[in-house]
Amino acid sequence: MTQKELGYVELEWTCKHCGTINPGMKRVCTNCGAPISQDDKFEMPDQQELITDKAKLEEAKSGPAIQCPYCNVLNPAGTKFCVQCGGDIQAGLARQAGEVLGAYETAAVPDKPCPSCGQLVKANALRCPYCGGSLVAESAKPAVSSGSMPKKTSIWMIIGGIAVVLLCVGSLIAYLILSNRTNEVTATVSEFSWKLSIDILEKQPVQKSAWSDQVPLQAQEVTCRDEYKETRDVPAPNATEVCGTPYTIDVGSGAGKVVQDCEYHIYASYCNFTVLDWFVVDTAVAYGDDNIPSWPVTSLKENQQAGDRHESYQIIFDANPGAYTYTPVDMAEFKQFDLGSEWVLDVNSFGQIKDMQRK
Ligand SMILES: [Zn+2]
Ligand SMILES: [Zn+2]
Ligand SMILES: [Zn+2]
Repeated sequence: MTQKELGYVELEWTCKHCGTINPGMKRVCTNCGAPISQDDKFEMPDQQELITDKAKLEEAKSGPAIQCPYCNVLNPAGTKFCVQCGGDIQAGLARQAGEVLGAYETAAVPDKPCPSCGQLVKANALRCPYCGGSLVAESAKPAVSSGSMPKKTSIWMIIGGIAVVLLCVGSLIAYLILSNRTNEVTATVSEFSWKLSIDILEKQPVQKSAWSDQVPLQAQEVTCRDEYKETRDVPAPNATEVCGTPYTIDVGSGAGKVVQDCEYHIYASYCNFTVLDWFVVDTAVAYGDDNIPSWPVTSLKENQQAGDRHESYQIIFDANPGAYTYTPVDMAEFKQFDLGSEWVLDVNSFGQIKDMQRK
């Protein structure tokens, strides 16, 4: 996020002694002359206006004011001797700064009733012009928010979950025991089958899309449009600035800095295009029931080429009684089985061959 500065507004403070609302950059109460105390906060005025006066703006920007240790009057940052009593203020305390005071409102604020006499008074009046009373209303106590209801978790859901886990673990253990327990069986190779295939590829047009800098050179029918790509924290070329609601930060000078957090949406050219890509259009297949497998012969056209090769083999052992099926992983393994040869098979409880040896 980039914080953009929109300007400064003068804040206000309320005199503890007489209840008068004072402009933030006034050193002493406009009604009774008392200085602001250290725990008096600067607040947002109802009606906020950006400071335009050059000298006032300089002071607003100067940073936290320093409270005179002798007379408590606030002095602009950088002052050496108190503007009120002339005392040395090097040892004075700087005002706190940095607090976010709220949203910056530019709309005109309607007149509000005086809490003492009820007459309508201008939003930024310091005291009631009719009865002379303080315009500081008794603040309403914040409502106590009720916490959300805790969620009920059914005990049966937990028991059910545990049961499912136990069942899964039990099944897995049973499976491992049964699959590892083997019997020796003497069997004869009685049948073969094999299937070998080769994919046939052909170049065909395919629709794709990508950011313009990733479109391949050989792409055809390219059409592009601007589309949102990413958000950046700092300004960038071709970016659309998107800013949040302006808000005001206490800078400690009696003024607030009005800022706005902005981010930058980057748009870039995104394109649809056509490229030629290889697709499987056919498969050449050869199969047999002997143990001399051979790859199919492919007759390729000009725009075609051979693709992936696939192989599968199967051997049937006759155990008398029963038969077992074995799947060799490749042609070399398949070819070592001869028709009628005798083997000792280690067979598990599921009828799977776990190991074998030629007799
Ligand atoms: Zn006062
Ligand atoms: Zn002083
Ligand atoms: Zn009044």
